Amino acid sequence: MAEQVIKPDLDFVKGIIESGGESLKKCYQCATCSVVCNVTPEETPFPRKEMIWAQWGLKEKFQGNPDVWLCHQCNDCTAYCPRGAKPGEVLGAIRKQTIKQYSAPSVLVDIVNNQKLMPLIFLIPAVLVAIVIAMTGTLGIPDGAVIFTKMIPVLPIQILFTPALIFGVAVGALGVKKFWADMKLANGVSSGDLKTSIIDTAKQVLSHEKFKDCDESKDRYTSHLVLFYSFVILGITTAIGALYIDILHMESPFSIGYGTPVKLFGIVGAAAIVVGTLLMINNRFKNQETLGLGSYFDWLLIGIIGVVGFSGTLAYLARLAGIGMVAYPVYFIHLVFVFSLFIYLPFSKLAHMFYRGAAMCFMKYSGREAQAAAVAQPAVEAPVEQEPAEAEKKEG
Ligand code: SF4
Ligand code: SF4
Repeated sequence: MAEQVIKPDLDFVKGIIESGGESLKKCYQCATCSVVCNVTPEETPFPRKEMIWAQWGLKEKFQGNPDVWLCHQCNDCTAYCPRGAKPGEVLGAIRKQTIKQYSAPSVLVDIVNNQKLMPLIFLIPAVLVAIVIAMTGTLGIPDGAVIFTKMIPVLPIQILFTPALIFGVAVGALGVKKFWADMKLANGVSSGDLKTSIIDTAKQVLSHEKFKDCDESKDRYTSHLVLFYSFVILGITTAIGALYIDILHMESPFSIGYGTPVKLFGIVGAAAIVVGTLLMINNRFKNQETLGLGSYFDWLLIGIIGVVGFSGTLAYLARLAGIGMVAYPVYFIHLVFVFSLFIYLPFSKLAHMFYRGAAMCFMKYSGREAQAAAVAQPAVEAPVEQEPAEAEKKEG
């Protein structure tokens, strides 16, 4: 029999341990986690197999592996693991490592998620935004009524933020292209119904139905749903704002004293981002005993989203109240964090919007989801016993 040589990638294991997967080595392969996970497919279930691959440093097993992305980090497995190996958190750490395989340049994943470099990752956008403000507006507190365009006009904002968003989305899209090709190769899939798979995935994402399968942290469904729709609302609001200003050449729908449904919609989106962040933080603390508090990788994203929501809301309220000393500095912070959100999109935990979406779509495209459903349902229905009288009638 040919001898199989296993070559562990120790840097990969070290990366997982440093990203919040320090409990990895405690796993003794009992498989309780795969049994209690309500999200995993019936055949080749996760996360037990991922735990052993990660322990052995089998990095190549995660190349084109959709399973780590199908995990919704509900932590049911962590709550039931008899060894305290926290498989939910280990999978989160593995996801961070796999982002490095697909979001290029991968060094940015390490920089963005390195706690020691946190001041730097916000300082760079802050300096950039300050330079643009100094060149095009007022780097200080302008006199008179609080109007943010006195500090920075709309055009420089567009020139700065549009490429940042395009960069974030383009890196994510290229990563998905590579991930998709790897999934097809690793799973021996050559074709499928892409259009239907995309439509069904979109429905699944919009309804957040997978989150409903979680037992231990059911509240995550609500907080994630609220945050998800806050982004959708704010995205639509921004697009309509650009339509008013750039295409229709009308007054900004967000001007004070100019009441529009668009403005109201934007206020709902901003309120939702604040509420969603508070719910998410509350869930983390409420369940920390059984599920753990999460890693820096988790908290960085919550922090960026939270600051975007709170600073946007506070800047708006201070503007309404006419308090320029508060409104302008807070607006500056808001711009810095929105910019950070855009450029770090494919390198932070937010990259899950690309890779989890692709993995969910691949499940349908490859037919694995349909197979899993068939395994879950008995293929042949048990024969219904007939009443003796009925049977006699038929025979007669
Ligand atoms: S992670 Fe925990 S539950 Fe899962 S196989 Fe390892 S020891 Fe068992
Ligand atoms: S965190 Fe939840 S979805 Fe992920 S493996 Fe554990 S039980 Fe399954």
